[in-house]
Amino acid sequence: MEAVFPELTGTAREVTLLFPRAGSPGPRDSSIGGPLLWPAAEPWPMCAEPDHYKPLDPPVGPEPVAMVPVVQLYARDVPGLVFPAGTDLLQILWCPLVHEDGRYAARPSLHWRGTAPTAAGALAGEPPRPHTAYEEFLPRPCTVSPTPAVEYPHWDMPAGLGERLDERFQALQEERGHGYFDVATTQQSKVGGYPGWTQPPSWPDCAGCGTRMEHLLSVTATEPDAGRWLPLDDRDHRREGAGADPAAADSFGHGMNLGDLGGMYFFVCRGCPDTPYTHRYDC
Ligand SMILES: [Zn+2]
Ligand SMILES: [Zn+2]
Repeated sequence: MEAVFPELTGTAREVTLLFPRAGSPGPRDSSIGGPLLWPAAEPWPMCAEPDHYKPLDPPVGPEPVAMVPVVQLYARDVPGLVFPAGTDLLQILWCPLVHEDGRYAARPSLHWRGTAPTAAGALAGEPPRPHTAYEEFLPRPCTVSPTPAVEYPHWDMPAGLGERLDERFQALQEERGHGYFDVATTQQSKVGGYPGWTQPPSWPDCAGCGTRMEHLLSVTATEPDAGRWLPLDDRDHRREGAGADPAAADSFGHGMNLGDLGGMYFFVCRGCPDTPYTHRYDC
C-alpha cells in the first residue's frame, strides 16, 4: 500500500478482526454475546438509570435492568490486545436499552480481570437476564476468530489527504478492479486499528488527563460478506454448487442492528490509574 501511496506512510495500524459467527461459546471462550466467566462474589451489573426507554415502545419502568454480555476476550486469543498489568481477560457488558445521555444507545460496563482468580470462584448458575431489552442492542451468542491484519485510515484519513489521493484511488479501482477502501480499510468488529466509524470520527479525550484516548475495540452491526476481508472458508460456503451452505451467511455477525447499521466504539486511557474507558456510538 505504501509503495503505491507513499503519502500513507506512518498511518498503518495493527488490528485484530473478530469475525463473529453465531454459535455456542462457553464461559472459557472468547466470544461476542456469549456467557462470561464471572466472579460469584461480584454482583451482576444492573442498570437503574431513570431515563431508560425503548423507541416506539411504552416507558420501561423503574426496575433495574440486568446488563447483557457483549464481549469477552482472553489474552491468549488476542495477542495484539494490551492488557493492564495482572489481567488477561476483558469483558464488556451493556444495558440493552436506550439512554438519553446524548448518545441514545446502550450503556456499557467494562471489566479487566485475571482468569485464574476469577475461575477459582466463578459463578456457577445462570446470571440474571434483563426483564426488558431493545433488540437492536441484544446480541446473539457468537464465537470469534481473532485474525491479525494491518489497516489504513478511512474516516480517520489525515486532513486533506483523501482529497489529494482521490483521483489515484479511482485509477487503482479502474486498473486493478479493487479500491483503496475495499482492500486497505475495515468496517467490522475488531480490536485495535481504527474505529469502525460509519460517521465522521468523534474521538474522546480522557476526562482525567485530557489526552486523546486510545481505540480499544469496535462492535459494528456489519461484517464483510464479500471482498478481501471475507474469510476463505466462508467464501467456499457462499459459492454456488457443491459446498454451498446458505445457512453460513445467516451465521454472520451478532444480529444487532445498532440503530441503522452503526457501531459502538470503546476507548481507554492507559496513562491514568485504573485504565479509564468511555464509548462512542454512531448509526
Ligand atoms: Zn440502562
Ligand atoms: Zn488519562
